[in-house]
Amino acid sequence: PIRPRAELEQVESVCPYCGVGCALTYNVDRERGAISFAEGRDQPGSQGRLCVKGRYGWDYAASPQRLTVPLIRREESYPKGALSADVRGEGNGKRRKDDRPGKDRGRKPGGLVDYDEVLPHFREATWDEALDLVARRLSGIHADGGPGAIAGFGSAKCSNEEAYLFQKLLRTRFRTNNIDHCTRLCHASSVAALFEGIGSGAVSTTYGDVVNADVVIITGSNPTANHPVASSFFKQARRKGTKIIYIDPRASTVSEHADVFCQLKPGTDVAFYNGVMHEVIRLGLFDREFIANRTSNYDELARTVADYPPERAAQITGVPAEQITEVAKLWGGAGAGIIYWGMGISQHTTGTDNARCLIAMCAITGNVGKPGSGLHPLRGQNNVQGASDVGLIPMFYPDYQKADDPGVRERFEQAWGVTGLDPDRGLTVTEIIGSILAGGVRGMYMLGENPFLSDPNINKVRKALSTLDFLVVQDIFLTETAEFADVILPATSYLEKDGSYTNTDRRVQRGRKVLDPPGQARADWEIVQDLAQRLGLDWHYAHPGEVFDEMVAVMPSYANLSYDNLGLSGKLYPNDDPEHSDGTVVMFDESFNTDDGLAHLVPAEWLPAKELPDAEFPLVLNTGRLLEHWHTGSMTRRSYALDAISPEAEVYMHPKDAADRGLTHGEIVRARSRRGEIELKLRVSHREALGNCFIAFHFREAAANLLTIDEIDPTGKIPEFKFCAVQVEAIGGR
Ligand code: SF4
Repeated sequence: PIRPRAELEQVESVCPYCGVGCALTYNVDRERGAISFAEGRDQPGSQGRLCVKGRYGWDYAASPQRLTVPLIRREESYPKGALSADVRGEGNGKRRKDDRPGKDRGRKPGGLVDYDEVLPHFREATWDEALDLVARRLSGIHADGGPGAIAGFGSAKCSNEEAYLFQKLLRTRFRTNNIDHCTRLCHASSVAALFEGIGSGAVSTTYGDVVNADVVIITGSNPTANHPVASSFFKQARRKGTKIIYIDPRASTVSEHADVFCQLKPGTDVAFYNGVMHEVIRLGLFDREFIANRTSNYDELARTVADYPPERAAQITGVPAEQITEVAKLWGGAGAGIIYWGMGISQHTTGTDNARCLIAMCAITGNVGKPGSGLHPLRGQNNVQGASDVGLIPMFYPDYQKADDPGVRERFEQAWGVTGLDPDRGLTVTEIIGSILAGGVRGMYMLGENPFLSDPNINKVRKALSTLDFLVVQDIFLTETAEFADVILPATSYLEKDGSYTNTDRRVQRGRKVLDPPGQARADWEIVQDLAQRLGLDWHYAHPGEVFDEMVAVMPSYANLSYDNLGLSGKLYPNDDPEHSDGTVVMFDESFNTDDGLAHLVPAEWLPAKELPDAEFPLVLNTGRLLEHWHTGSMTRRSYALDAISPEAEVYMHPKDAADRGLTHGEIVRARSRRGEIELKLRVSHREALGNCFIAFHFREAAANLLTIDEIDPTGKIPEFKFCAVQVEAIGGR
């Protein structure tokens, strides 16, 4: 029975899912040792709101499938490879009987790793035995192969403190910068463009600042599904007069709230924004004073966009020329405007160019540095901003200090009491997979990531994981990636530990321990520290608060913040006086963080996607997320309510495309690309444009990333998840 609220204990924490980072309160029944319900909590950003994931998506922590004891692969299970038929690739992409919704709830939710098939290949071990083995094997590989033989994937699910310690371990013990996390699959290209353009990878204003904007552009994003609470602020602002321009290949629900909706062809963003800037300049709607005083390289930008009159932009993008001019008039005529963007901008081989255009759009109209104006890449995971801030990336130490700058390296050698840090930038997520296949990286530490489902072209990932000499996976469930592990370490979920998390707004908030960990599971920071000690490092952190204070000392952007002064609502950074101020909402009111203080305008030419549709693969595949699920589904698919609402994979397709193929809504179809094929249900939807289709990547039994291409953006190194050529057809028909 649910007890009344007065008999429950309230624990203030933050939502573990998207970058909005909503504040919430868990109401805990201590007698049952369980959460009874969650509710939104007042905080300047989320203001008490929650979406379905925050409100109902916490019961996975009590799943009987939690890992509770360290596991070591049995000797007879070598040579190494995946242990279940699906992950091995046999019956690859084929639906199994127990994948059907409603089957085997509890012990074996549909579509997840089959524990009964996999667990017999491992034996239980003590923490001492498991950690000694990890330390011995990683040290041995490092001694034989040098720093380049070791790599680590951290996770944006980790707290700031855990991400900081993980990168510090890899950098100081193994002298390698081969460390990355899912930002590489999310906004790495946006961050690259923002650094180049304005000297900062974070947002210049908050999502709540939308109320001060006359016009906002929401582009390459489906905020109703991916940033639901932020989306509610967008819709509310519109009711108060803010105009919304929505630009996306899919007619997502936010298109119904837009004043102008431009349904451009996938992969044509550069041509679209160059066309809009062409018109802004032609109509004299640019801000001469801002351009003269606050930007550089305007003339080159103007020359480039001069080649994109609306007629040409219309031909490339499919958006009518008049609508391109209409957007230019609305945007250029606004007193204040913000651009919010998602992975439809970043996840392209032209992702950095796409973001460069958005920066230029804001800069030439003076839309940065004043209330209701600015640049806001809607960050994906709840702590992807924080994990990047604290240095879980191969090219930067904490606070985006360049890893290949000798002065920076010297500072960190002093701060960390070591010598000989890696002088070169490390490898990114996608490059590490390539390096494994080329015999470079031989040993990996995987903390909370599940590249088997999250990375592009997973047949290639499967091959790479099988060939590693040693893989240690630290997670809360037996993930698909854990099937390739030599050692599996059971970690706590965010509900069972303390730590800080930084949301898309730059708000640093504390998550608080709600429940006791199951079995022998331990917090990630404790496991990393224990391993560091076994590897000879003299670490003795007693609490995440001590790690936070060390982090702040090497991160000027977080100056003045302390674990204690974050309070219940968290604080925005930069923050001169956290005791009395919530922090800075609008940044760059006087100058940018670049060396000369100016915004650097970088023009871009439109380039087509890497794999265009043809007669054999005539459709463009777009991948992404659903409202009810999160990334590789390891948490949300074990959450009863979320899995019940959205239990299985579907391919979304325009009615005419379905009719042309003789397919009907609800039937099981095959989707295939040059890299693989899957079987899944067809959803006929008017929200897809003709010639395009969409598949969410949460579902192992119909893994969208078996189809995707592993071509990457040359600067941000992000894969082209938003564009590859596929065919969808009836089962049995080719
Ligand atoms: Fe959690 Fe994001 Fe939903 Fe807020 S909007 S409750 S942070 S998933």
